Amino acid sequence: MLTALLCASLLAPPGDSAVLLIRVLDVSDARIGGDAILITDSAGATGRHVLIDASGHGATVAAYLRRFGVDTLAAVILSHPHADHYGGLPVVLNRFPVRAFIYGGTPRTLRTYLALLDEIAARRIPVVTADTGVRTVTLVTGADTVELQLLAPPPTCRQLPRNASGDAINDCSVGVRLTRGAFTMLLPGDAEQAELGWWMMAHPALLRADVLKAGHHGSANATSAALLDVVQPKAVAISANGRQHPFAAVLRLLAARGIPTYCTADAGTITVRVLRNATWTITTERAGTCHARSQLGSGSNP
Ligand SMILES: [Zn+2]
Repeated sequence: MLTALLCASLLAPPGDSAVLLIRVLDVSDARIGGDAILITDSAGATGRHVLIDASGHGATVAAYLRRFGVDTLAAVILSHPHADHYGGLPVVLNRFPVRAFIYGGTPRTLRTYLALLDEIAARRIPVVTADTGVRTVTLVTGADTVELQLLAPPPTCRQLPRNASGDAINDCSVGVRLTRGAFTMLLPGDAEQAELGWWMMAHPALLRADVLKAGHHGSANATSAALLDVVQPKAVAISANGRQHPFAAVLRLLAARGIPTYCTADAGTITVRVLRNATWTITTERAGTCHARSQLGSGSNP
């Protein structure tokens, strides 16, 4: 297990008593949406920021980061090499200092992806390859810590063939389990049933979480009854592109279990606020009930 201490700081957002803010940014649109999640540890007078994915819209994500007071990213975590997750990263790297880059190391030959890795090397950003077991990144703020446990993809991802399908690449996601005190959140990237099942066998205790960022934008191949039995989420956030996602079957499954569900495509940016006593709330940019964009039971899409 590797422990990395990441130390970048800046002023916390004024007037917010939360010690931890997790923002599932609204990057939804009709073409390519994706994931972009900003984690801000704002305990005391300082804060640290970690970005998980940058969607396909770098300028949009950069504008969010500026709005939320980011001047340095302690780390950027790339869940997996699909453009709706890494496409916005070059713009982010251009505009914000990044202290560490964390990814799964899954090989791809896409020109834009190789250019991204070249740029990270040229900027001499330290790289952590989370390709085995569980690694822990700890953000330290005074007496408090936020722990990010990185769930590596299966070993087969290290030799993914060049013609691997979109689903196979989704199943090479780096998962993140965030813990602060008694609060936990699971962010499984676009992991589908194969990888989720592998994690359920390898690390079932690490999957339980108060809040789940639904895998694969709310596709049915990533949110199953079996997964919900293990995670037992009290709330679910869906970062959906609004064109295909989320799937009706997923919304039905969550509704049947009475799990409050929030969708970026309907409600805008979703903010999880965690207070020092570990109580937490979820707010959204605007009112909006999740509604399905696809009736499919599963789908092969990014
Ligand atoms: Zn995706």
